[in-house]
Amino acid sequence: MNEMTKIAAQPAYSENAQRVLRREPALFINGDWVASSHDKNIPVYDPSTGRQISSVVDASDADVDRAVAAARIAFDDGRWSGLAPYARERLISRLADLIERDTDELAELESIDNGKPTSSSGGYDIPRAVATLRYMAGWATKIAGQTIEPALFPTGTFHSYVRREPIGVAAQIVPWNYPFMMAVQKIAPALAAGCTLVLKPAEQTSVSALRLADLIAEAGFPAGVVNIVTGLGETAGDRLVRHPDVDKIAFTGSTEVGKIINRAATDTLKRVTLELGGKSPVIVLPDVDIEKTAAGAARSIFSNSGQVCIAGSRLFAHRDIFDRLLEAIAQNAGQWKVGPSLAPDTMMGPLVSTEQRERVMDYIDQGRKAGASILAGGDAPGGDGYFVNPTILIDVNPEMSVVREEIFGPVLTAQRYDDLHAVAKAANDTAYGLSASIWTRDISAMHRLAGKIKAGMVWGNVPTAPDVSLPFGGYKQSGFGRENGTFGIEAYTEVKTVSILL
Ligand code: NAD
Repeated sequence: MNEMTKIAAQPAYSENAQRVLRREPALFINGDWVASSHDKNIPVYDPSTGRQISSVVDASDADVDRAVAAARIAFDDGRWSGLAPYARERLISRLADLIERDTDELAELESIDNGKPTSSSGGYDIPRAVATLRYMAGWATKIAGQTIEPALFPTGTFHSYVRREPIGVAAQIVPWNYPFMMAVQKIAPALAAGCTLVLKPAEQTSVSALRLADLIAEAGFPAGVVNIVTGLGETAGDRLVRHPDVDKIAFTGSTEVGKIINRAATDTLKRVTLELGGKSPVIVLPDVDIEKTAAGAARSIFSNSGQVCIAGSRLFAHRDIFDRLLEAIAQNAGQWKVGPSLAPDTMMGPLVSTEQRERVMDYIDQGRKAGASILAGGDAPGGDGYFVNPTILIDVNPEMSVVREEIFGPVLTAQRYDDLHAVAKAANDTAYGLSASIWTRDISAMHRLAGKIKAGMVWGNVPTAPDVSLPFGGYKQSGFGRENGTFGIEAYTEVKTVSILL
């Protein structure tokens, strides 16, 4: 263990955070905090220390049914979809204001629960959630249909138009890597479109979603419009996605669970959007500024301890610059201060759970056994927290599990290439297709390569740049449907054609 990996103690939680963590486990259903129908809880751990710090409800089938019933009634009686769109916009904006007011508190809770540094939760996750709500609030008043002249009848025979109507009750299931931001990214477009919903956060990280429920109540949303139910995926999540009164499922999580959900939704042909895993390539051409590109490549894989679906986990560097670039990335990796989430100088926190750390260490081991060399990291600091050091693997080949499978940790694999055709082929040699980044000053090569990459998002000269106005989603086994922007709103609407003989 070197100096960099000596883990400091987790600073004390604020009084306020302690108060929130001491609350009795409860569910937010029909505008109220209610007890579960059974007596099962899920422990909440601080990944920086491995200590249990709270509990949340492990919802029963009856709890899930109750939440769906509340959302169903709230949708069917029009208390939300029937409001003036401007009233919906105002409430969504009000929620954004309340979240902004409580940024520090929410950031602390998110960091305690997930392990991410407060610089990330307070500087990115919570502000992004606020921006998403404000952007989506604006859509509430701008969802529009079309008037169309039928092609097969004399003009003026019909008045034909197309309406966009809210789908109904949405079941929204989110993962643990950006718990609050993902929860808000799910509820914002659904609310703007006029849907009601049941949100299920990940069992590892439910604390901030429960605070979100407090703010929803404070903002004054009508009862039953937003219901938040904590619980395990295989039980509460499964009940939710199979529920006949759910019209739409929006899921972010692993490809494996995405497939299960898609199958479960088939019986009632629910509308489904899936944001799943990735194994995104970072392609570096020989003309780049080495230092800047190395810093970008490191950010792309080490931010959020690599627990990012759009992490740049497969680096492809042109043979002429491979050694220099990798040396610079390794140097950069050494500067990532690994530490507990609440320490102000932490750049990389622990992984979310002991299972996740084991999984990542197991992948590193598989890589080593298959012949990969470790250029940086490859080890985990001691202590009780779930830390893994920033890791770079070279001498890898496309058959290795570290290259093929999503590790969801701070592990970069790096390969050489000789020409653009070969690198496009290698980059596309994956079951995933979420994102890619391309680094070059040659704009023509950038565009040519962007056209060849089979992924839902391509970024140039930047590690990642998701934005609430730009479609977010993947090709192939990275899912289907898109979040954000117009696409994100339309995903919560049905299209109705009305044709009236005049
Ligand atoms: P996961 O699929 O295990 O869990 C995600 C959510 O699904 C959790 O809330 C869980 O409780 C629930 N769930 C689990 N089994 C379920 C079931 N049978 N029915 C219904 N719900 C169920 O994923 P994870 O390990 O929490 O998150 C990591 C994965 O999420 C990674 O693969 C990552 O790439 C992906 N992810 C994708 C995006 C994206 O936008 N594409 C964003 C973040 C994370």
